[in-house]
Amino acid sequence: MTDPSHILRIAVARPLYQLLDYLPIPNTNAKLGARVCVPLGFSQCTGIVIHIIEKTDIANLKQIIHLVDQEPLFDQTSLQLLRWASQYYHHPIGEVMIKALPVLLRGQRQVPKTFFWQVNPQHPDATSLNRAPKQKALFTLISEQTAAIDFHTLRQQFQSNINSLLTLLEKKGFIYKASNQFVFQYQAPKILPRQKLQLTDEQQTCLNAIEDNKQTTQPKPILLHGITGSGKTEVYCRAIAPLIKKNQQILIIVPEIGLTPQLQQRFEQFFPEYKVALMHSKLNDSERMNAWLGTYSGQLDILIGTRSAVFTPMPRLGMIIVDEEHDSSLKQYEKFTYHARDIAIKRAYDLKISIILGSATPSLESFHNSEIGRYHYLRLSKRPSTHQSPKVLIQDIRALDPDVGIAPQLLKGISNHLAENSQVMLFLNRRGFAPTLYCPNCGWHAQCPHCDNNMTYHASSQQLLCHRCDNFKAVNSYCPDCKHSQITTQGQGTERIEQKLQRYFPKTTIIRIDRDTTSRKGELKQKLAEVHRGDPCILIGTQMLAKGHDFPNLTLVGILDIDHSLFSTDFRAWERLSQLIIQVSGRAGRAEKKGTVILQTTEPEHPFFHLLLSSGYLAVARYSLEERKNWHFPPYSQQALIRASATQMEYALEFLDKLKVILQSYQKEEEALELLGAAPSPIEKRAKRYRAQLLMNTKTRSHRHYYINRLLGDIASISKKGQLRWSIDIDPMDYA
Ligand code: ADP
Ligand code: ZN
Ligand code: ZN
Repeated sequence: MTDPSHILRIAVARPLYQLLDYLPIPNTNAKLGARVCVPLGFSQCTGIVIHIIEKTDIANLKQIIHLVDQEPLFDQTSLQLLRWASQYYHHPIGEVMIKALPVLLRGQRQVPKTFFWQVNPQHPDATSLNRAPKQKALFTLISEQTAAIDFHTLRQQFQSNINSLLTLLEKKGFIYKASNQFVFQYQAPKILPRQKLQLTDEQQTCLNAIEDNKQTTQPKPILLHGITGSGKTEVYCRAIAPLIKKNQQILIIVPEIGLTPQLQQRFEQFFPEYKVALMHSKLNDSERMNAWLGTYSGQLDILIGTRSAVFTPMPRLGMIIVDEEHDSSLKQYEKFTYHARDIAIKRAYDLKISIILGSATPSLESFHNSEIGRYHYLRLSKRPSTHQSPKVLIQDIRALDPDVGIAPQLLKGISNHLAENSQVMLFLNRRGFAPTLYCPNCGWHAQCPHCDNNMTYHASSQQLLCHRCDNFKAVNSYCPDCKHSQITTQGQGTERIEQKLQRYFPKTTIIRIDRDTTSRKGELKQKLAEVHRGDPCILIGTQMLAKGHDFPNLTLVGILDIDHSLFSTDFRAWERLSQLIIQVSGRAGRAEKKGTVILQTTEPEHPFFHLLLSSGYLAVARYSLEERKNWHFPPYSQQALIRASATQMEYALEFLDKLKVILQSYQKEEEALELLGAAPSPIEKRAKRYRAQLLMNTKTRSHRHYYINRLLGDIASISKKGQLRWSIDIDPMDYA
């Protein structure tokens, strides 16, 4: 029992940076990591016990209202990780903790539990049940078990309503409730037999290095740089096999859910006797809670999840894998901004377990870490056996009418590959029909009234849609300014490309995969299954198709429009573009047939293409790192981006200018602090609000931490006008 003189230090589910102190309820035991209900102001809210302390300086403590959990939802290491995340990202602790729980457990709902039934050793003679055959059958079933059996399993096996039967059997003294626990609902998948593979020499070398690293007391993170199709997944499976057999759990973080159906299958095939589950945003709330509790209670062996899964408590965690570690979807942008890869690295470090970061195109941050010896660098440079890397051809489209969109050479390529019974994929990272709708008479453009942004014309829904704020409106048939009746579209979206190809290839199946065609549950899976059947078809897709998917019969990839990235001011533009080109190209030629990539550009002589195509990804990486070193950009500096938005641009700028002055006043000579801005953001207006930013560059993380911490102490006293909102993004990846 907690001594009533003890004090509970609690993270409450509110945007507060401090923990709050409360008195426990006498003669109750509030455990660390358990939820409690506490009074706060005139209302009450959920909180999580973070510390139990002896003394506090605060007078007149209030008592908590009640305990929600008898058993903690977070173990010590999870609490430590979440506290670290809250400090590192400067986000209120209570929000960090609550967001780490599945939605259904964020309030005060109890963890769902199920009774386990067992035979009473002193039960009456079973012949007394002869006139109640159902009860007798159920009793027989329970007595045949070697251990207590839970309600769900019983119901499944008995295939009838057992509620009242159980009550009767209990009353008559035949059975009793052995315990009351959470039971992970698991549907065993249909598992296809797995082909036993002989590892390539490269794979074996990687595996040996991973094994050696595991044996060290503080394993270093491993960067597994393997080209697409080089067999990274096979290496993951072999690396975790000995741990799984020792009853440890494995956490696999992936950027997007589009990737996971295949990955899940691969792990299920490799580990048919173990439980593998997914955790991602397309699950409904109770599915999510089931996966969370299954992992937390140790009933699940392998958890494959998107970024927020990185916080799921795992009592027997043995290894973490972050697949596609370079992918920007691993970063969460809304509210609590964090990078799942970086959290995963910290988690592995705390637990002294191995972590593998896999990618065909490592992030420059991770590559830099391997160059300076902080990470192990492992390489898979070839595809196993006959698989060959695709050939990339640059297609000059300077002479092509922009409204045509697809060069004749590419069209010819498509028909050739289809004629050979292969599949073709076209990549265009823009959904909708056309990005611009305009009036040729007066120059009017359809613009979103809430953002500075062209609205995209969607033909199927006959709507104009702003991709920044989702504002939409119906399309008029005449110009709203001059009433001219021939308004027209410009540029290409996936919808338009689909329509064009239908005209060129009327007999070919065309499958479009973008957010518009896959918004309903199961749609993506169904479309992917269709592609997997392998019949010749044309696949059109956005970035949803760029990564992960393994389509054995796909031999030609067309990349339609990436030129805008060549001129981006973002210092990560070259890194991103080479990642994109390599990832998209990686879809071609994954089986016996050789793949070809045709990349359309109006800049065929651009030095970027030359560097990437003649010297490869690492050459681009080294070149970019050199540049960043000169410019003091990450990974050679630590950044924080302070964003502000308001009803007028001047209010946002004014606020940030004040922050700048304050930050400068903290500055000590030896702790270099560079401040860029305040300036309007590249996207100046979004959803009726004007946006500005102030970028902070420091030499080390601890300097950055010091400045931001002090700033947060002072920020409340700064006057704010025009419904000003602000946020701080640590290690920003996106400067829009
Ligand atoms: P990655 O994860 O690097 O993209 P995968 O693990 O998906 O690569 O492997 C690509 C393909 O190669 C898969 O079909 C896989 O079954 C096959 N493969 C992997 N390792 C071997 C091997 N040692 N021998 C033969 N085929 C292999
Ligand atoms: Zn007009
Ligand atoms: Zn908008």
